[in-house]
Amino acid sequence: METKCFVCGNADTTVVYLKCIHEGKEELVCVRCLPILIHGAH
Ligand SMILES: [Zn+2]
Repeated sequence: METKCFVCGNADTTVVYLKCIHEGKEELVCVRCLPILIHGAH
């Protein structure tokens, strides 16, 4: 699986990524984007 954040497109492997399901698809999100997801700021 490609290590890439689906929110910001970041592929920096020094950042922690978490697995999540987005629109039925398994995606990775970096911890920097987690607050954005949690607060729903889009
Ligand atoms: Zn990100």
